[in-house]
Amino acid sequence: MEGVVSINGRDFRYRVVRNSVKHAYIKLKRDLQIEVVVPKKVNGLDVENLILEKKDWIEKKAEEIERSLRIYKDGKVLFKGKEYEVVFERGERDKVLQKGSKFVVQYSDGDPVEILLDWLKERAKKELVREVESWSKKLGIEPNNVRIKEMKTRWGSCTKKWNVSINWQVIVLPKRLRDYVIVHELIHLSELNHSKRFWARLAEVFPDYQELRRELKKYAIMGL
Ligand SMILES: [Zn+2]
Repeated sequence: MEGVVSINGRDFRYRVVRNSVKHAYIKLKRDLQIEVVVPKKVNGLDVENLILEKKDWIEKKAEEIERSLRIYKDGKVLFKGKEYEVVFERGERDKVLQKGSKFVVQYSDGDPVEILLDWLKERAKKELVREVESWSKKLGIEPNNVRIKEMKTRWGSCTKKWNVSINWQVIVLPKRLRDYVIVHELIHLSELNHSKRFWARLAEVFPDYQELRRELKKYAIMGL
């Protein structure tokens, strides 16, 4: 059984799959199709209602998938400013290997793209924290707390309480642009607004910051 359901004015295709499960559940696939998995013996389920009960989750997940298209699309992954080919292989367990100009994703039964994205997120967390720490020392600006997380529309942000957040997807950027994003946020700790003083301070580190801002815009796809 298939159909289309509208969630806040946006159409989602759905497909019902019968399986030996106890309870019905919903998946959103990377092509943004909803899959409703229902127990084999249950009849008369109101599938559309089941989907609508989960509409907030579906919308959030759809946005997440769309944002991730900047990182992975059509067998190519963007990592630290370079594009790599991705090879998916069935294996005993889930594993990601970086082999020269390729990423090899070994997967057992999970979604291989999810495995790749999870791996990249973990890598991003480790590397970006290190990069923030290193800039923090260089600049003598020490945040209270650094978080690397999923962010909807920004590369980074900071608060008056001296907390810095960096979007984990910054890992797609080449080194100089990652540096720019990090330094931009660190300087914001003492200069909250984009004042003249803010840009002057930034120019001390990056005399070519205007060029960097332009370059960064090229990476701003999918609403970022
Ligand atoms: Zn700013």
